[in-house]
Amino acid sequence: MDLGLTGKWAIVCASSKGLGRGCAEALAGEGVNLVVTARTQSTLNEAAEYIANKWGVTVEAVTGDITTPEGRAEVLKACPNPDILVNNAGGPPPGDYHDWGLDEWNKALNANMLTPIELMKAVIDGMRERKFGRIVNITSAAVKAPIDILGLSNGARAGLTGFVAGLSRKTVIDNVTINALLPGPFDTDRLKSNFEAVASSTGTPIGELRAQRAAANPAGRFGTAEEFGAACAFLCSDKSGFITGQNILLDGGAFPGTL
Ligand code: NAP
Repeated sequence: MDLGLTGKWAIVCASSKGLGRGCAEALAGEGVNLVVTARTQSTLNEAAEYIANKWGVTVEAVTGDITTPEGRAEVLKACPNPDILVNNAGGPPPGDYHDWGLDEWNKALNANMLTPIELMKAVIDGMRERKFGRIVNITSAAVKAPIDILGLSNGARAGLTGFVAGLSRKTVIDNVTINALLPGPFDTDRLKSNFEAVASSTGTPIGELRAQRAAANPAGRFGTAEEFGAACAFLCSDKSGFITGQNILLDGGAFPGTL
């Protein structure tokens, strides 16, 4: 299928590794030029060079913290009129609700709700004028089924999801869609750090936790960044203009609901 994306420009936030990287690679494979971002310059530059060489597209690396106004300004300076925006940032740390004060909540809300809202606000009017725009927010399966130790994530991402539910119905008239991809367990550094936290609080070895969690998934495994990226590329394509305001679960069937 030709996704109709050759020559378009995408901002893919938090994309030197993991799910963001999967999205960047899949879009590059469709001929999309990229602005990729991360806080660590060395790994970001390596990723940008690798993707550009592999897919023959232009890839600009913007180092910075996407959750800060300065970080976002740099990204928008590099690409003020993107056709595609993939919102992503690190997730909040796991923990217990007793330990989360206003500081922790403000950080989580800033990173996982207000940062994507600010970026959407910055690019969406231009997309509407140009009559093409695709926005994909990477959220979490926790939006559908809360995960106890990830309460900060449950809360912040639910806020983003509620806001987008309204906005996405307003912009689709101009062929600007906004959808969310909800990852279940994907084999990335983030998953590794969650296992480390559980291992240190329970004493169960990480290898055992991994094996148990993989076996508990109906697919018997974790998802891959490539699979995640492929779903993102389709949502960004010119074939997906009638899909908006959706929250699409990629979890190997772990969510037990019929719908
Ligand atoms: P990951 O493998 O740890 O990769 C995170 C990427 O984001 C790295 O490139 C990292 O680079 C960059 N990054 C993190 N914070 C950033 C910031 N403030 N500004 C700019 N770049 C930043 O994580 P992942 O598994 O891909 O997770 C991506 C998102 O999906 C997270 O919000 C996570 O909570 C969510 N999620 C993941 C899973 C899963 O199973 N993997 C499940 C549910 C939800 P630097 O560190 O160099 O900045």
